Amino acid sequence: MNWSRFINFLLIVGFFNAISFGIYDFWFRPKLFINKPQIKTVSKIADPPADPFSSTEMEYFRQLTLKYNTGQFEGALKYAEELLLKGDLSSGFGNWLRQQIPVLMTSLAWLKIQSGDCPEAQKILYRAVQRGAIPETKKALGVCLLGAKEWPEASTWLADFVKDRPQDLEGRLLFADSLESLGRFDEAVLNLDAASQFTDLTAEQKLNLSNKLTAMKVKAQEGLKQKSEFSRRFYVSYLEHEHEAYLPQIFETLESSTDEFSELLGLEPVNSPIEVILYSKEAFRSVIPGGPEWSEGMFDGRIRVPFHADMKRQNLSLLTTILRHELVHALLSIRSKRRSLPTWFDEGLAQLLACRLRECSGFRFGVSPGDFLSQKMLNEPFVTLTTIEAGMAYQQSLYLTRFLAKTQNEDVFKSMLRDLEPAGPITSDFLIRKAGYDSFEKARQSVAGAWVKKLVY
Ligand SMILES: [Zn+2]
Repeated sequence: MNWSRFINFLLIVGFFNAISFGIYDFWFRPKLFINKPQIKTVSKIADPPADPFSSTEMEYFRQLTLKYNTGQFEGALKYAEELLLKGDLSSGFGNWLRQQIPVLMTSLAWLKIQSGDCPEAQKILYRAVQRGAIPETKKALGVCLLGAKEWPEASTWLADFVKDRPQDLEGRLLFADSLESLGRFDEAVLNLDAASQFTDLTAEQKLNLSNKLTAMKVKAQEGLKQKSEFSRRFYVSYLEHEHEAYLPQIFETLESSTDEFSELLGLEPVNSPIEVILYSKEAFRSVIPGGPEWSEGMFDGRIRVPFHADMKRQNLSLLTTILRHELVHALLSIRSKRRSLPTWFDEGLAQLLACRLRECSGFRFGVSPGDFLSQKMLNEPFVTLTTIEAGMAYQQSLYLTRFLAKTQNEDVFKSMLRDLEPAGPITSDFLIRKAGYDSFEKARQSVAGAWVKKLVY
């Protein structure tokens, strides 16, 4: 597993975001095996080992494993269920086959999860539970329930999974994630701590876990002071004395901006709450270890924002901008089913929409704007760039989206986000074709031409 795919730190002039796809992503379908029937030896001496099943049943076995091993889980499940209905199986084979049903169902469910269809996966998983859940069934349920923000049930399944597989890193992380949402920070710390003791971690995983652990300990301390409140689509945690007075305005910003962005981008209604956590300035620094001093907000599956006295003096305008910026990331993440989008698109839209129809909506070139960045630099997480390049990448991402909005109109984004591929990465070429360009490189060249002439869009 490539850990770095999970945490992409994105820099922005005035903002800092971390988008973590760490939790419910596509790389951890369990490795399931249908055990080959055990070879029985008849006696110690001469006889060759015999298959435990009849030749007909060995053929069933071969057919089933062929389907299974070539990823035809739906076909394999159907086949197994049809065999069981036939009723003329030996008890040995029948029992063996019945034990495979939850394995087949869980594998099929993982396939659905990979294609972003958790509702369908969940139906299959609950059926698997009735037939005898295997550990991966529980993990898969945890993944889907966590995605649906059904934290109590998610944590129950994940607790069970961790009991079965205490050495599973992803399981520990998922469990800690559910505990965090439930405000059970101390237990989350214990799980991260257990995971950091694993002996097979890479250096990168170790560093990552140590950062997570540090952050969770701060959250545990902060959590004691935090209270939470729901609105229609948001679950906001805040510090009672510092933030409470501003909650109505914060909820209003979040709810009305969600309506505005959903309409503009043609998004489905948000049907599970988006988490927003307000921190003190100091605590926020600690929950993003390694983040730059000037960071202003982040989205890592939850919107995390520092909210302090300086911001209150600015009449909440800056807080509104940050909340709207991170909200765009959150909504795009839901739209893409948590797959990563090209960074220029994600960050460009976040900046554009944060200031849409507001006083901060202008665009200014720097004294020497420099060349337009390469396709590669604009596509990948900006953390791979130097600080100066990252600043340029943010500005040029905004310029790209402004160019599209002005040369066409804002509906271009709705078109770009329509009919996303059901699985796999979402590429710049895929998105830009919806805006009428042959390729992202062609579009980039047009935009670069306008950039060097300092045309303001
Ligand atoms: Zn951002």
